[in-house]
Amino acid sequence: MRRGIVLGALLALGGLVAVKAQPPAANAPKVIEVEKVKDNLYVLRGANGGGNTAVFLTAAGVVVVDAKNPGWGKPILDKIKELTPKPVTTLINTHTHGDHVSGNVEFPATIDFVAQENTKTNMEKMPIFKEHNGVGMAKRTFKDKMTIGKGADQIDLYYFGPGHTNGDAWVVFPALRIVHAGDIFASKSVPLIDAANGGSMLGISDTLMKAHNGIKNVDAIINGHTPAQTTWADLKEYADFNKELVAWMQSELKAGKTPEAAAAEWKLPEKYTGYAPTVGANFGGLAGRIQALANEMKK
Ligand SMILES: [Zn+2]
Repeated sequence: MRRGIVLGALLALGGLVAVKAQPPAANAPKVIEVEKVKDNLYVLRGANGGGNTAVFLTAAGVVVVDAKNPGWGKPILDKIKELTPKPVTTLINTHTHGDHVSGNVEFPATIDFVAQENTKTNMEKMPIFKEHNGVGMAKRTFKDKMTIGKGADQIDLYYFGPGHTNGDAWVVFPALRIVHAGDIFASKSVPLIDAANGGSMLGISDTLMKAHNGIKNVDAIINGHTPAQTTWADLKEYADFNKELVAWMQSELKAGKTPEAAAAEWKLPEKYTGYAPTVGANFGGLAGRIQALANEMKK
């Protein structure tokens, strides 16, 4: 038991280190590529910039979803100025990670900063907001659902339970039939589970299915880290992938395998061809996900 706790703590620490290791050198060029998804919706990407940023143009101003790594707030704002003369009024964060929220501190302090309530709690633990006297910290929060604006400008925010963290917001643009899913569906790959911020390997499949069943009339998904959108059917498939992955992990643990031994045996099921065949080192790699599951099953 004690060993499990220590191992879990080490893995959590490894995850934090891995997340912190993502930002590139501060002087690396910050080049943003723009994809126009709809007349009033863009996705901003950048090599080493971190998570995908959505830019939604409304009558009242610009709503931004996620602000990338440290130093990327200004480049995002500069790029928005090329797209529209409208002011930025709102920044929504999908979750607490540094590659999605660090750019917040470069946005005007007066705009509305919105996040799920657990994400605000997680963000309060991050040094970057203390270093900037709270600028960029979430001001307005929601628990399960919140609507901002109406008609063509409406945005629906949902929280369906833990997965990547315990504060993963689903940001829906109903008029456009598009959702920004953040890192609970970062890409077609073994999920990223941040146990230290309340993420749940055991729960992610259910949470993904609740989102699939609970959000209506969506065609396309802006994922946390993909170069192009995925479909609503992909979300269902991803929920199934995670359900089967957890079942496999449970059978390996039941057979007495260590997380490391089980991880070494993992093969991507053939029906999920096209998914990332390897697992990144973040959050302890696949062994870290298996350990997270083992820890959750002991609770
Ligand atoms: Zn993340």
